[in-house]
Amino acid sequence: METLPCFYAPDTAAHDPQFWMLRGVPMANKETAERADRLLAGIAQVGLTVTDPPVTDRAPMHAVHTARYLAFLETAWEEWQTAPGAGAEVVANLHPQKAHQTYPSGITGRAGWHMADTGCPLGRDTYRAALRGVDTALAAAAAAAAGARAAYALCRPPGHHADADTAAGHCFLNNSAIAAQALRAHHNRVAVLDIDVHHGNGTQEIFYDRADVLTVSVHADPDAFYPFYLGHAHEVGAAGTNLNLPLPLRSGDDIWLTALDRALERIADFAPGALVLALGLDAHERDPFRGLQVTTPGFARAAARIKAAGLPTVIVQEGGYLSEDLTHNLAATLRGWIEAP
Ligand code: ZN
Repeated sequence: METLPCFYAPDTAAHDPQFWMLRGVPMANKETAERADRLLAGIAQVGLTVTDPPVTDRAPMHAVHTARYLAFLETAWEEWQTAPGAGAEVVANLHPQKAHQTYPSGITGRAGWHMADTGCPLGRDTYRAALRGVDTALAAAAAAAAGARAAYALCRPPGHHADADTAAGHCFLNNSAIAAQALRAHHNRVAVLDIDVHHGNGTQEIFYDRADVLTVSVHADPDAFYPFYLGHAHEVGAAGTNLNLPLPLRSGDDIWLTALDRALERIADFAPGALVLALGLDAHERDPFRGLQVTTPGFARAAARIKAAGLPTVIVQEGGYLSEDLTHNLAATLRGWIEAP
């Protein structure tokens, strides 16, 4: 059987966020540590082995995130604890518009500055876990750079909603963008293909002005779905290297796979040396977010089509939430990849 190196850092389980708010109602966060257990079961179903990634040189992380933001993530939780009546997690309750505004020094103001929404609560262990998620993505990128046809990074927390300076939607450090940046050391051009049900807004923003990284995203129409403010078809990139393929809500396999073919045509035209697949499994028909209606066999078909692009591929886990299907959807994706020619 064709092998596919898989990486997962068990210490990322220490990030187990609690807070979330939907339509003004506080509720349990969906990006739980249990997700990793279900995804690991998917890897085991396919018979692949998992390696704990080494702590590595994180230069690509410093290339895509601002120093100010990384400093915030590192110290925010401890500073938060000194605020009167602070909760157990850093959750922004301010939403600055930023233009012409001044960067504040206090923790409440900086939390608002660096957190786009309430969906990215930062706990005591969040930053350490996010750094190990980065190590996971970098280990998979190193495997692909060393000749592996593909490598899979089970990253938690996910990353594709985080931009250079901002956490958002369960994401703190943009693992997919960091993997792409790492691959740039080996290839003149790199593409990122994001098939999460939510638009990869952070990745798009990080590379929006750059001609050396193509970003392509297939997702539910953001006009009425997270992340709402980005992900539209008219956003083509300052260098013409961004393609968004928003789909009507609750589209199924046929529409999704047709969009995927368009995405792959654009990637072929760009002729990158390597590909990062931002793998969200939340486009599934029974995912709690219910944005699209992709089936489990649909993920296997997608994997086969993406493999046919013939590029060294780093598969980075993004979304995909607790349902009976999460394990099977990852297994179908990995098996679809391995069994494709
Ligand atoms: Zn998602």
